[in-house]
Amino acid sequence: MRKNIVAGNWKMNTTVPEGVELAKAVNEAVANANGIKCDVVIGVPFTHLTAVKQVIDINKVGLAAENCADHNSGAYTGEVSAPMVASTGANYVILGHSERRGYYNETAQMLKTKVDLALEAGLKVIFCCGESLEEREAGKVEDIIKAEISESLFHLTTEQWSNIVIAYEPIWAIGTGKTATSDQAEEVHAFIRGLVAQQYGQQVADDTTILYGGSCKPSNAPELFAKPDIDGGLIGGASLKAADFMGIVTAF
Ligand code: PEP
Repeated sequence: MRKNIVAGNWKMNTTVPEGVELAKAVNEAVANANGIKCDVVIGVPFTHLTAVKQVIDINKVGLAAENCADHNSGAYTGEVSAPMVASTGANYVILGHSERRGYYNETAQMLKTKVDLALEAGLKVIFCCGESLEEREAGKVEDIIKAEISESLFHLTTEQWSNIVIAYEPIWAIGTGKTATSDQAEEVHAFIRGLVAQQYGQQVADDTTILYGGSCKPSNAPELFAKPDIDGGLIGGASLKAADFMGIVTAF
């Protein structure tokens, strides 16, 4: 059976001391909450990983980097590799976020390499995909999603696939306050599960966790998470306040 997951993506927010306080608050809230029905992960800037790892119980709150390099080591000034991320004790990495694809020109081929290196380093990958408003209006949602997923992930073995979590994040809904309706999101999630079934078989598809991301908050999470193919969320803005984030965690 697949897991439900709620993962935060802090993006480029908080100083290290602020991040440590936020992580402590999330960790404490998770420890004190009864009957949480999902795994909880926080995605934090590279600079925060080591300090945050020290204040969370990694068995209750997973820890993600928001990116990793497409090389393992060497003369790549400013880059942080997957083995470096893993050495902090983090257990996840978010790859393919639309902000990375859009602002830093990350291509499908580059992401394929990053995915391979992350899995090799023992990290689980939260792999983001999603269409722009222009692409949605041109009726290209399925083509975009299929290309993003197949070009960067479908070379993986079934065993490797068990460490992949997909996050569907329509670009027009990220940080805009404009959520996809639960029906719009479910339609794409079901399509993604179908793609996975074609490639890896129905059992693997049924075991794959597919998250929704895009202006998800405590008020809309229950309706989104009630859909059969929506297994949780990747949360940006609302992950920066422990109370809002926990409002989403407890939405199942
Ligand atoms: C994100 O960046 O992954 C995201 C979903 O952001 P927000 O929740 O702020 O829309």
